[in-house]
Amino acid sequence: MVDRPRRGRRAEPGRAGGAALSAPALDVARARRETPGTAHVAHLDNAGAALPPAVVTEAVVGHLRLEARTGGYAAAAAAAGDVAATYAAVARLLGCAPEEIALTGSATAAWRAAFSGLRFRRGQRVLTGRSEYAGNLIALLQAAARTGVVVEVVDDDEHGQLDVADLRRRLDDDVALVAVTHVPTSGGLVNPVAEVGRLCREAGTLFLLDACQSVGQLPVDVAGIGCDFLTATGRKFLRAPRGTGFLYASPRTRHVEPLFPDLRSAELTGPDRYAVRDDARRFETWEHDVAGRIGLGVAVEHALGWGLPAIRDRVRDLAAGLRARLRERPGTAVHDRGLQRCGIVTFTVEGVPAADVRRALASAGVTTAVSAAASAPLDLGARGLPDVVRASVHYYNDEDDLGRLLAALPAPRPR
Ligand SMILES: *Cc1c(COP(=O)(O)O)cnc(C)c1O
Repeated sequence: MVDRPRRGRRAEPGRAGGAALSAPALDVARARRETPGTAHVAHLDNAGAALPPAVVTEAVVGHLRLEARTGGYAAAAAAAGDVAATYAAVARLLGCAPEEIALTGSATAAWRAAFSGLRFRRGQRVLTGRSEYAGNLIALLQAAARTGVVVEVVDDDEHGQLDVADLRRRLDDDVALVAVTHVPTSGGLVNPVAEVGRLCREAGTLFLLDACQSVGQLPVDVAGIGCDFLTATGRKFLRAPRGTGFLYASPRTRHVEPLFPDLRSAELTGPDRYAVRDDARRFETWEHDVAGRIGLGVAVEHALGWGLPAIRDRVRDLAAGLRARLRERPGTAVHDRGLQRCGIVTFTVEGVPAADVRRALASAGVTTAVSAAASAPLDLGARGLPDVVRASVHYYNDEDDLGRLLAALPAPRPR
């Protein structure tokens, strides 16, 4: 663990004319030294795919080299302890047992594995939120068409976060599932998921939480949240390799059988019988990327080494500083909502399409992303917003990274 003094929640003093761009206490110089990519780009797309620390890359490449020398099966046997350490690290990250973790190839694969195992009756309801991930919404709509389940969208409250009172009104015996996203891909909002969990526990309703954008930048504790399933990806704020993800499945979900069990999920117990394993690994597939799994474990241990509260504070303060600076600029509007905000900053420059802003930043060595209104129709679309630029900070970003973004922003073109 990294020692750091306790700090209040206020932005740091100093820097004339705006909030300070960085918080002290987390050793940013060390974080940058340990992250080779910081020497090449101002990487502000950590909600897309973060820069990995060198230890992660080395672990992945090391395993690939071992596979080349000894063959994939022998390499996997030799690395069994490292893979076991990944389950243990993810379990520690989420506050659960290693048996409650399934490793997958993406967050979508994890979400799909859980969701496709649920059986719905015609007329039952599934509740979701306005900030639900578009990929999940597609699967929900397909389930509605196939099974007759009714998908209902819970309102936002006046702060733009999921309205817990509206959720309470809608929760009854007919609700088969509550599927909610913790932090949307298209904004700095943090949904009040512990309150969602409490209501679901009271109602005895399954709660599937998409924590893709929160895991790695915020402390996420499955017991405190009270979710039944939680899904996340490796490459975003966890700084793990691409092609990695995981599913938490609580013991309350033991009745949920994966839709397509394979030889990892189940075994033949006779010529006409099979038995599904009862831990979360029933949601895995037999074949998988061993090097990626090892890299995921190293990335999670790296995050735990910094400490998630320290990461959260640093990320929150950097993002708050960036929002303040953006708001000071004429013709620049910041679009993040919610009482609690995280490291995702969304904005527009008047008269300049988001794609053009992103391109201008990229040519100055600043990596950002565009959140398309069309892929967040219940959120950006419903708010009447166009595509927005997304700058997502991580603890290894520094003032220079943010300064480069601000310096490279195109001027507004008022109409
Ligand atoms: C990125 C993202 C996903 C999908 O993650 P993959 O690993 O690409 O499958 C799901 N939900 C949210 C909120 C995301 O931001």
